[in-house]
Amino acid sequence: MYKLLAALFVSRLTGKLQSCADMLSTREKKPPHETQLYVSVEESKLPIVYGPEYNIGFLGLEKLHPFDAGKWGRVYQFLKDDNLLQDDTTARPQEATEQDLLVVHKKSYLESLKWSMTVAAITEVPPVAMLPNFIVQNKVLKPFRYQTGGTILAAKLAMERGWGINIGGGFHHSSSDRGGGFCAYADITLAITFLFERNPKVTKAMIIDLDAHQGNGHERDFMNDDRVYIMDVYNRGIYPHDGFAKRAIKRRVELEHHTKDDVYLNLVATNMEDALKEFQPDIIVYNAGTDILEGDPLGCLSITPKGIIQRDEIVFEKAKKWKIPVLMVTSGGYQKTTARIIADSIINLKNKGLISIEAAKNCQPSRRRIVSSKSNSQSYETLFSRLSRFLSGSSTPEESKEYCSVKEKTTLTTPDASDCPDRGPQ
Ligand SMILES: [Zn+2]
Repeated sequence: MYKLLAALFVSRLTGKLQSCADMLSTREKKPPHETQLYVSVEESKLPIVYGPEYNIGFLGLEKLHPFDAGKWGRVYQFLKDDNLLQDDTTARPQEATEQDLLVVHKKSYLESLKWSMTVAAITEVPPVAMLPNFIVQNKVLKPFRYQTGGTILAAKLAMERGWGINIGGGFHHSSSDRGGGFCAYADITLAITFLFERNPKVTKAMIIDLDAHQGNGHERDFMNDDRVYIMDVYNRGIYPHDGFAKRAIKRRVELEHHTKDDVYLNLVATNMEDALKEFQPDIIVYNAGTDILEGDPLGCLSITPKGIIQRDEIVFEKAKKWKIPVLMVTSGGYQKTTARIIADSIINLKNKGLISIEAAKNCQPSRRRIVSSKSNSQSYETLFSRLSRFLSGSSTPEESKEYCSVKEKTTLTTPDASDCPDRGPQ
């Protein structure tokens, strides 16, 4: 009897241990959630992702921020005008859902975005705090969610085609539990996490962050994660001065105000080459901010348009040399001229044979030029500009400039050494 009871006990214990093991293995093997962001794209389409939903009408409030909120639409139009792509050869993104965002973001952070005041702080446009949240969700956050979906789709396409470009995204100040610096969603972290979850060929990623600002969002997200190597080249004297996030940077290049082309391009080329000698990733995520451009009131660097085009060429050349797929996102860039420069740079990549559009051209059903009507964002801008002036206390352009100057401790004109903010804490 005693032996029988002992055997029964052992059998039950073994059974329980087995079921625990089964539960654990089931948890480990749990398939990723169903999503509309990570989907197949027809061969006839280029791995260039864009949707008209990217552009922020901002109810006219964009005039209170030096950010060019229609940049993405203009880049797209320039590329169409140059026949690099057409509407039917462009990959279209879907809007990231809450479930998609929860892959990286904390629920509490997403809940906080239901307060317009939080979004006002992230976008650095105080009058947004006075708007009902449903307007903020639809007119401010929705474009960001589409761009986030675009980065995830472009990442998938980059792995399939060797390269992918999202004409948007690059929200490198947002991490799982916070936003800031005009970045509400951590699209770079999300794209890499989606690849880790869904593409067995991706076990290591490299982020090359060449926006003028430190990419503290993805740095916080990938702190202590050996699968991700971060190289960050940024102006040390401007936002965000995130000393904690800097610990995640494997290759840090800090620039002084008004760094010029020759110094900058040499630093980018040599450091990227050395980074790739140290770490061979399965994908390079290139954050190609254009706020390094001379005259940018926030970036405070002195890189010419030609220098930006050369920089992008260097990154794509290195990726090609090392045979590593590259995903490019456009990130910051605050001047009206930057859209033309981004388009010229993508055209240059095509002319130099660093990206190929031949497959899409061959598959293309028609080369007819589609004349687009006035975009929704322009209409919204016109419709709501009066409202925004009312809400913001009839701000004049001069008042807007004053706000931006105070916020960034600099001016909207081409800065010289005396215009730029003092070096902050490191
Ligand atoms: Zn920036």
